[in-house]
Amino acid sequence: MQNLLHNLNEEQLAAVTLPPQSALILAGAGSGKTRVLTTRIAWLIQTGQVSPSGILAVTFTNKAAKEMLTRLSAMLPINTRGMWIGTFHGLCNRLLRTHHRDAALPQTFQILDTQDQLSAIKRLIKAHNVDDEKFPPKEVMYFINGAKDQGLRADKIDAYNADERKKVELYQLYDEQCQREGVVDFAELLLRSYELLSRNQPLREHYQQRFRHILVDEFQDTNDLQYKWLKLLAGVPGQHGSALFAVGDDDQSIYAFRGANVGNMSAFEREFQVKNLIKLEQNYRSHGHILDAANQLISNNSKRLGKNLRTDAGQGEPVRVYEASSDLAEAQWIVEETKNLIADGAERREIAVLYRSNAQSRVIEHALFSAGIPYHVYGGLRYFQRAEVKHAIAYLQLMDNPHNDSAFLRVVNFPTRGIGLRSIEALQAAADQYGISLYAAVPHVAGKAGSSLAGFVRLIEGARFETQQMALPELVRVVLEHSGLLTHYQTEKEGADRIENLEQMVSAATQFVSEEGYGQGAPAHLGPAAQAQSGAAVINQDGIEILDADAPLPAVMSPLSAFLSHASLEAGDNQATVGQDAVQMMTVHSAKGLEFNNVFITGLEEGLFPHESSSREHDGVEEERRLMYVAITRARQRLYMCFAQTRMLHGQTRYNMKSRFFDELPEESLKWLSAKVQSHWFASPKSAWDAAPVLGSDNAIAQKIAHKSAGSGWRIGESVQHAKFGEGVIVNIEGSGPSARAQINFGNVGMKVLDLSIAKLERI
Ligand code: ATP
Ligand code: MG
Repeated sequence: MQNLLHNLNEEQLAAVTLPPQSALILAGAGSGKTRVLTTRIAWLIQTGQVSPSGILAVTFTNKAAKEMLTRLSAMLPINTRGMWIGTFHGLCNRLLRTHHRDAALPQTFQILDTQDQLSAIKRLIKAHNVDDEKFPPKEVMYFINGAKDQGLRADKIDAYNADERKKVELYQLYDEQCQREGVVDFAELLLRSYELLSRNQPLREHYQQRFRHILVDEFQDTNDLQYKWLKLLAGVPGQHGSALFAVGDDDQSIYAFRGANVGNMSAFEREFQVKNLIKLEQNYRSHGHILDAANQLISNNSKRLGKNLRTDAGQGEPVRVYEASSDLAEAQWIVEETKNLIADGAERREIAVLYRSNAQSRVIEHALFSAGIPYHVYGGLRYFQRAEVKHAIAYLQLMDNPHNDSAFLRVVNFPTRGIGLRSIEALQAAADQYGISLYAAVPHVAGKAGSSLAGFVRLIEGARFETQQMALPELVRVVLEHSGLLTHYQTEKEGADRIENLEQMVSAATQFVSEEGYGQGAPAHLGPAAQAQSGAAVINQDGIEILDADAPLPAVMSPLSAFLSHASLEAGDNQATVGQDAVQMMTVHSAKGLEFNNVFITGLEEGLFPHESSSREHDGVEEERRLMYVAITRARQRLYMCFAQTRMLHGQTRYNMKSRFFDELPEESLKWLSAKVQSHWFASPKSAWDAAPVLGSDNAIAQKIAHKSAGSGWRIGESVQHAKFGEGVIVNIEGSGPSARAQINFGNVGMKVLDLSIAKLERI
């Protein structure tokens, strides 16, 4: 048996081995909170205090959940597969699948991601002739999700004026639409399972008795409903309730905009009569200068629970700060420093480039790409969100649950099969008349429209029939072919990438079935009853059927349903690049909980970081400061900060001041690398020469740009208008004369490369 406890400090040891009561571990970044939580699970199991099935652990991301499972398997000789360790969404999905009847959902209910949800709301607004200027779909969506995050159904909301009443009405109609279609959005996963547990006493008691220990990481970012959900599962403290063990850091609360409530920490302390409050103050992650910077910055916040961090690691190197003349120069500097790090022996995966907004990544990506440095962007357009992949998923969804109207509308005429707007209107009318799904309404449509629609239904039914005995990867392949998607993209000019993405779905399905423990050949449609090995379903003492929650996924979901949930819930990682040694690019938000030897914090400018939206919100700047604290504390050994005097964002040049956060950092921990650059050097190539700063990289770029812009008549940084793509900004120019090409970042359609001699561009 391994000694799990030998590499813990005194406070950590105390936290890991606390008696089974409510406890709050409040500690700063890098002090070992996540390590303590994982070790506690292992210790509880190893000492026989609880079986693996008695543990419920909530993490913030799927990645974190996977990591926790991996660490646990390394610490204990147990099979972690059936353990309830996951995100709130993942755990709720599992609960609802297991008890779908009690939750009034079809077993094959499908999960809408944000994009699907928005289109469902647009459809609803249109169907009810609501003015979408007065009630923009996005606003309606935020309204609905905000209400759900507080645990409120439409009938529980007090509306004070006509506009609010309308929104509440739309919320009600939206819920009805989702119910009809057998779909749930992210917030609904939580609300529905909360309602399930709160209404169904035997079920609630079953789980309360089962989960003796509930452990929550990143507790500061739970929202009201999540906290209520936890309270429900934990039961009454002191009266056979389970032990709720929460770890968190109030200084890292960065999701208030999504309803997170840091007040949950004090509420928890009070409501659970927490006697065990442990603070960890030793930081094991960062060198001294980095920690000093973090400590001093965060001391500028007024609302803090108060704690500090120290390290034994020595001061290390000071934080390197660079003022670039432009975003391009900033990106070039990052590239140069990255090259230096790699030359010094750094692994690429140990280099992280952090930014406040996704829009900042393109320029940096381009610079890394041009320099031939592999990189991986987190949370860009996720694989499962790409249009072609969503189309294929829609076919699969219809085979699993034909009443998903969003999926139906997405592909009923894609690839085109002569089903026009009129036919859809007729179908919609029939569906409304009978209160049924579009799919079910098809037989009610007569004439030519009816027969084209019936053809589509035959296609889906045929694919379903044909794939009955097939394993998931084979089924995916057949659907790609039968749907006509592959043929469609073969004829499209730029379809090669899309076909590649589609084909990747077969590999994704193969990987999925093996990772989730489905037999490689298990038929994809086969439901839980047939899949479940003996004993998977149990009847508890109250006579309700409860699937043994230790059973792995196959006992709860068919491979196809499980794969579709995975596509909605776990799409965060871009599969293609996982495992590759690449520079890691991500927003500061998604860096939470992670650590890297080398970290760049970019775009430290007023308006960008702190973000301009923060000035409008109560507590806005303090939240931005916490975000900056998260960013700084991701670094182990080297930290870089940079900002640019001018920047192209959303098609506009911005002249920014350096971030106020620089004034809040200890001067002795910073090393400024650049001399001040006076002028906006895009204005004319000449000024770029004049303004060339001390460091070589800016100078080199200035020369390059001066050279590139010569001859083509266009300049990098110029804003242009294109007849089809709209407004954009030239980010690069290659070649000259008739072969000159420009890379242009269009606000609407993203990056395009155009031949300057052909493209009709206008200056704006
Ligand atoms: P964050 O607030 O960023 O989530 P955290 O408090 O969860 O941070 P961990 O990620 O658990 O911190 O730990 C930070 C780093 O310190 C990890 O690399 C971890 O392995 C290491 N660490 C934690 N405790 C110890 C210890 N007692 N001895 C050595 N290393 C430790
Ligand atoms: Mg952590």
